[in-house]
Amino acid sequence: MKQIAILGSTGSIGTQTLEIVREQGDISVQALTAGKNITLLERQIREFRPKLAAVWEEADARQLRLRVSDLPVKIVSGMDGLIEAAVLPETELLVTAVVGMIGLRPTIAAIAAKKKIALANKETLVTAGHLIMPLAKEYGVPILPVDSEHSAIFQSLNGETGNRIHKILLTASGGPFRGKTRAELSGMQVEDALKHPNWSMGKKITIDSATMVNKGLEVMEAKWLFGTDLDQIQVVVQPQSVIHSMVEYEDGSIMAQLGTPDMRLPIQYALYYPKRRPLSGRRLDFFALGSISFEKPDTETFDGLRLAYEAARRGGNMPTVFNAANELAVAKFLEKKINFLDITQIIHECMLHCAYIGQPTLDEVLETEHTVYEWIESRW
Ligand code: NDP
Repeated sequence: MKQIAILGSTGSIGTQTLEIVREQGDISVQALTAGKNITLLERQIREFRPKLAAVWEEADARQLRLRVSDLPVKIVSGMDGLIEAAVLPETELLVTAVVGMIGLRPTIAAIAAKKKIALANKETLVTAGHLIMPLAKEYGVPILPVDSEHSAIFQSLNGETGNRIHKILLTASGGPFRGKTRAELSGMQVEDALKHPNWSMGKKITIDSATMVNKGLEVMEAKWLFGTDLDQIQVVVQPQSVIHSMVEYEDGSIMAQLGTPDMRLPIQYALYYPKRRPLSGRRLDFFALGSISFEKPDTETFDGLRLAYEAARRGGNMPTVFNAANELAVAKFLEKKINFLDITQIIHECMLHCAYIGQPTLDEVLETEHTVYEWIESRW
């Protein structure tokens, strides 16, 4: 039995990870965590019988303790609870499926405890890739990508050890607003932005896809995961979302990974790497698909992608400024407090105003997040 823990088990990636656990039958879940959704967490505890479960607020933990008092499960809360779940001695692999920078400390703790990391929580690598990757190397811990594009790149690198990469071709669907003008974007509402054409995901990443900030975060994630230069990563819009990404080698040969847009595939690949397992669900039917098309990303209209490249080029704490500004701006957009185009405007202004730190420590990364939040709150 493979022993795992899942941070963010009630979310989109978390629930799909549990679908795989249910379907495969040879994985034991030792720890589950949620933010606030204790109703779903209770159901998950009853079905998967973890030793430990964590929620964010102690008040929710108290409620949950009462609800599952008939079971031998320890309920904890807060950052300490997340970290306890991440480093549980019984587990060999941690799925990091929380959303946002909250995943940073638990991921670092899990690496230091020699857990393999199945990484969905891209914000961790975006803001602290310079700390995470060397740490993973030091402890001999693999970081297995869950993001579909990064899993595709990872799969396209199989068997190519020692061969030089010319370029990573990171594909993008273009999101629900592909082809729109800025004038059209200015009127877009939360409900419009949440309608992703191909993928069903959590709210934050769905908004990030609409702004194309998600692709920017993925460029930074790819840079850290695969140790490439930024200029070697090219974003290619591929609206049908069947080519999940590609690697071009120095001889011009391009390896790609294709499949239906189904996150269970990259999740399962990370859980069982390097083995493949059967997976239920739709298969790619080329005749039904008919054609696959490609476009250049429109970085004038979708300035989030351009800003991401700028943040990545400047390095230091700029990716944290970019990411933290986006996290709060998206939360405000979801609460209908700002307009769609304000999201990248806020990111841009934060990048102009926040102090630059060259090689931020973990504390400085977290302080940068705090400063960005304060700065935004004082203006919007
Ligand atoms: P969701 O919003 O669906 O789920 C987020 C999870 O994090 C939930 O379990 C949520 O708990 C938990 N959470 C939220 N806030 C806190 C908190 N303060 N403390 C502890 N836990 C918290 O997100 P997704 O599953 O869509 O995304 C998760 C990560 O994976 C993101 O980094 C995203 O970018 C990445 N990713 C997602 C993909 C997808 O298809 N969804 C694809 C590729 C990457 P609760 O339910 O209680 O709120």
